[in-house]
Amino acid sequence: MPIDADLIPASGRAPAGVRVVEVGPRDGLQDETGSITIEAKVAFIERLAEAGLPTIEVGSFVRPDLVPQMADTEEVLRRLRPRDGITYMALVPNRRGLERALAGGVRAIAVLTAASDAFTRANTGMTVDESLRKCRDLIDHARRSDLLVRGYLSTAWWCPYDGPVDPRGVRRVARELLDMGCQEISLADTVGAATPNEVRRLLEMLLAEIPADRLGVHFHDTRGTALANVLASLELGITTIDASAGGLGGCPFAPGALGNLATEDLLYMLHGMGIVTGVDLDLVRSSSALLETALGRRLPSRYLQAGPPRRG
Ligand code: MG
Repeated sequence: MPIDADLIPASGRAPAGVRVVEVGPRDGLQDETGSITIEAKVAFIERLAEAGLPTIEVGSFVRPDLVPQMADTEEVLRRLRPRDGITYMALVPNRRGLERALAGGVRAIAVLTAASDAFTRANTGMTVDESLRKCRDLIDHARRSDLLVRGYLSTAWWCPYDGPVDPRGVRRVARELLDMGCQEISLADTVGAATPNEVRRLLEMLLAEIPADRLGVHFHDTRGTALANVLASLELGITTIDASAGGLGGCPFAPGALGNLATEDLLYMLHGMGIVTGVDLDLVRSSSALLETALGRRLPSRYLQAGPPRRG
């Protein structure tokens, strides 16, 4: 899409390119109460891959009795066609999950911790420090098998139980995850409560010691601030942004945390700003449309529902 440079305000600094990490098949679908067939799930992921999303979180190796929507992750991975330049990632909560991921041929995993004790207790029954010890053990083993490891840092701005989170605590957890061998950290606004100044404050603190290419952001649009927070992150040089096709999902352990930032809405904004993603927005939209049919309901992405604007 041609961009008229004169239309971009002089103050608007932004990177030339962004890597969009697609989390819909895991972070989104894990919250679905209705059932979805494995055929529909694989078709959804295949189309997301065809759209050019470079990293797709395809599932998790959690206990099937706790998260039944993820019980078929092994089979999903077995059915997905490997594609050059596309990384299929899976969330792994423990050693048993890591063994399943390795057996399934996964090359990239994600581990999960948070900055808030109240949240990790509710989510995993552990304190943040206990959760970090578990991450260290997992990352040690994953790195021995040459897996790429992403660390999710939940409640990076707000905790659903304790409110605003001290950025210094987030910095401590981020440092530890990087020391353990995580290639990148995804800072998650789990309850979708952060606003741009809070985003800037944390990122400025972290970027003083962590390179921008080791940090990603994961915003929820629960209160309508996700794209504003993305813009604040772009202006500080962040180039890895998580999103979920159709705006699917939230977090089952954070009450009220509906609404991952929709991949379509993110791509529409980025492309409009002349930022290269390598992702075909129309194909992402058609992936979400496939999923809407499979789920029998509409998904909340604004772009998905509104479509492209008329030009002239
Ligand atoms: Mg999320």
